Amino acid sequence: MNNIAIYLRISVLEKGNLGHTEDTINSQRNIIKNFIFNDQELKKANIEEYIDEGYSGSTTSRPGLDKLLLKVKQGKINCIIVKDMSRFMRNYIEMGDYLENIFPFMGIRFIAINDGYDSSNEVQNGTELDIQFKNLLNDYYSRDISEKMTTALLVAKKQGKYTSGAPPYGYLKDPEDNYKLIVDEKVAENVRYIFQLLLEGHSLNETAKTLNSEGVMTARARRKEIKGYDAYANRWESTVEDTIWSHSMVRRIANNEAYTGTFVFNKSRKSKLDGGKVTYHPKEEWIRVYDNHEALISKETFDEANNIIKSRKRNKMFKWGERKYKNSPLATYVRCNKCGYKIRFGISSNGKEIVSINLYCYHCRMLEQEEKLPHNKELEKEVFKILKDKFHTDKTEKKKLLDEQKELYDRNDQLLKKKRIEFENYKFGKISREDFMETKNQIQESEEENKERIGAIDEELKQAGSIDSLTKEIVEKYIDKIYISGKGIERIEYQ
Ligand SMILES: [Zn+2]
Repeated sequence: MNNIAIYLRISVLEKGNLGHTEDTINSQRNIIKNFIFNDQELKKANIEEYIDEGYSGSTTSRPGLDKLLLKVKQGKINCIIVKDMSRFMRNYIEMGDYLENIFPFMGIRFIAINDGYDSSNEVQNGTELDIQFKNLLNDYYSRDISEKMTTALLVAKKQGKYTSGAPPYGYLKDPEDNYKLIVDEKVAENVRYIFQLLLEGHSLNETAKTLNSEGVMTARARRKEIKGYDAYANRWESTVEDTIWSHSMVRRIANNEAYTGTFVFNKSRKSKLDGGKVTYHPKEEWIRVYDNHEALISKETFDEANNIIKSRKRNKMFKWGERKYKNSPLATYVRCNKCGYKIRFGISSNGKEIVSINLYCYHCRMLEQEEKLPHNKELEKEVFKILKDKFHTDKTEKKKLLDEQKELYDRNDQLLKKKRIEFENYKFGKISREDFMETKNQIQESEEENKERIGAIDEELKQAGSIDSLTKEIVEKYIDKIYISGKGIERIEYQ
């Protein structure tokens, strides 16, 4: 890469709207230069600027563009960078011709930063359709038939064509049809995990912290990985927080209906005419396409998570998380025997107090393999009985164990004495070496056996205690995991 052309354009219209022409040309330049500076290869190249001021993108003959295209014909340019596709050209057919025929033929790399387009990343016919569609829109904008454009866009979107820029975290554009969303298997589980944490009663902040502590890949990091470069690095909105999870990022995911398979559009419109100003539409104007793509979570999960977030906002005194764990000592120990995931303790509440606690496996629910699990009260009763049978030790039992242990220590002392005597007998020639070795081995075997039993009693004594009720402390002391199924307790792993 040796010669890069930067193309900057500002139209009369924009000049009128913004007041300062310089600002927009400057901001375009800054964005492009930042982009170049962050790219190891690009930053080594020569940079030439081509500027058209007061020209609209639909004017095909522009002095700056003409000069640039002449250089292209002469083979003096290797790479063209613009902020947006529409800066370069708004005419769909012509732009398509450049992107699909002229530039590839001349070996020119074309980058439109905000469109996330880089011809060097495009596999043959990769995002061709997408670009064409964008250009089609630019075409419409340019002719200022905004009504028609809106209609065309809405029709496309109603048909389930994903026409927004980047797909939400957890999804990818289908390589075979760029209008379609497919599940990004690499991070889809993270989206489910976020909803799981929220349903478990973690706040947005706690959820973000958990994600960070577990090194869960952020949306931005994933975008970077897919694209091969950081598409956001040059945007003024981007902050260092984009590289870690924050509560607002978690909220954005929790609020995104796309995860239920629903495609919501017409939420906002980005004006192509006054510097990309975004206008938000009232909720009544949102349009939904259900079952547009594969859902990552159920509608119920989505609603539950959002209700939790909302209820916390409404009344900060109502702490779901605390109540949840306070109300069952087993809450964090129970796992699904089928899939191994933590069992949820869903609370039904009348707003003041807990009415009931229902156990369910979120994971199995997601896979539509949910079993009806035992009720919390039954489970607590059963666990209590098991722990009592297994670990409850009263005073007389404890004394018995201590007595047994004392006796074993005494026996080992005697064995040691016997070993010394046998050794002297051998030393003074009273018994043969073979006889001595045999006796010595027997003694050592008994010693080992006794030591083992002493150790086992130690363990038993350590665990011994009176179990009179199932408290959080008792559960914590004895239990690591309890696996349950529809049939009840399947297996308990102890501490
Ligand atoms: Zn399960």
